[in-house]
Amino acid sequence: MDLSALGWKKYSESVSLPEGSFDVGRISVENKTNYTVLTKYGECAGILRGKTLSGFDGAEFPKVGDWVRIAKLPEENKVIVEEILPRSTKISRKSPEGDEEQVIVANVDVVFIVQGLPDDFNLRRLERYLVIARQSGAKPVVILNKIDLNDDFYELISEARAVAQEAPIIAVSAKTGKGIDELKTFLQPGSTFVLLGSSGVGKSSLVNAITGESLQTTREIREYDGRGRHTTTKREMIILEDGSILIDTPGMRELALWADEEEIQKSYEDVEELSLSCRYSNCDHEKSDGCAVKAALDDGTLSQERYQNYLKMKKEAEYLETKFNKTKQMERKTQAKKQHKKLNKTLKEKYG
Ligand code: GDP
Ligand code: ZN
Repeated sequence: MDLSALGWKKYSESVSLPEGSFDVGRISVENKTNYTVLTKYGECAGILRGKTLSGFDGAEFPKVGDWVRIAKLPEENKVIVEEILPRSTKISRKSPEGDEEQVIVANVDVVFIVQGLPDDFNLRRLERYLVIARQSGAKPVVILNKIDLNDDFYELISEARAVAQEAPIIAVSAKTGKGIDELKTFLQPGSTFVLLGSSGVGKSSLVNAITGESLQTTREIREYDGRGRHTTTKREMIILEDGSILIDTPGMRELALWADEEEIQKSYEDVEELSLSCRYSNCDHEKSDGCAVKAALDDGTLSQERYQNYLKMKKEAEYLETKFNKTKQMERKTQAKKQHKKLNKTLKEKYG
């Protein structure tokens, strides 16, 4: 495998590497403690050791996109991951206090921020994504997708312009292919990109439009394990036909969820307000005694569906927080168990 195809040239010119000569590889899959590393020896399993095992600088494990110093094991498709090389850029989420940072992916050149017109067009959300992109050090490019659904999108572009400032804005349709050529001008062989955007805005469709093939087939590799069965693995870093490199990890989707959270919470303000008018401040919204939520559900002002979506959103938000804030994990687990029990009880009472 040619390292330049993995973006080594561009990367190595942008950071200062340790002295001496050593073997390198690029992390392509991170799955709990299992890593896949792309190297000149091909695709290898990565075993963490030393600095990478305790976490880089005592805090960070390798992430997809990371360049690492490796040592190949003889006669095995395995490498020891010895050290994370300096990151040229890193996409991360920070705790609200800004004192804790969780790196999602590393060494990304371009962040395409995707919104779908008209339903997902949201300036506040765009702003949040831009903050994430700018903090990463990568180049943000705003993509307004689904223009085929909009007769008049010029107004939206000028609204986005005010927020995007120096970041280019491209209006495209993954469906008709309009604007895709312009999008491609931001991709060069060896340059790494990610797509950041809410679910349903058309990220997969865009990749399909860029490559001309289905992302699903690009991402899934069928492999035979030692016992002759085949397993399907998902690739988290894909070299596209044009030589550009796409990083698409579960972490990127979680990052989008996290960035959307505040916005989503706002859209459920009415439900939040209802719960504030319950008689008891610690109301569980289950007993009829002075519960405003239950009253609204009963008289139909709040639909069961909307309330369930709200609960789902809360749960998701909590899940993300839990993942981020490990110290509170145990506490939340106990809470989650309690809530789960409660929900089960309610459902049982309600639906038998
Ligand atoms: P993702 O969740 O961001 O990956 O979004 P998908 O690529 O799965 O697309 C979500 C839905 O939007 C699918 O039904 C797509 O067919 C549709 N979609 C994506 N891009 C476009 C577009 O440019 N125009 C239209 N009309 N639909 C699109
Ligand atoms: Zn209540």
